[in-house]
Amino acid sequence: MDKKDASKYNTREHTRINVVPIVTKKCPYCSNTLSLSETVCPSCKNKVGEPDKEGVAKIPGTWKKYVSALLALTILVLYLIYGRDVIAYIKSMFF
Ligand SMILES: [Zn+2]
Repeated sequence: MDKKDASKYNTREHTRINVVPIVTKKCPYCSNTLSLSETVCPSCKNKVGEPDKEGVAKIPGTWKKYVSALLALTILVLYLIYGRDVIAYIKSMFF
C-alpha cells in the first residue's frame, strides 16, 4: 500500500465513523463515555444533557446562566440610570 492508498483509506474510514448512529455520549467535563439515558456522569458527578451531533453531552442549564447574566446586566443598567433608589426598591421586595 503506497501513501496515496493510505490517505484514501483513512478518508473512507473517517466517513464511516461519522455515519455510525450515536449510542453513547461523552461527558463534557471528564470525557467519560456514558449511556444516552444517563443525566449525571458517574465519574465526575456533573449533570449532563442530550448529546450533540459529535456525541458529546451538552451541559444542561446553560440558558439559566444567560438569564442570570441578563438579569444582572439589567439591574446594573437600572442602577446606572436610577441610582440607589433601585437598590432600595429591590431590597424592599425581598426584606
Ligand atoms: Zn464526567
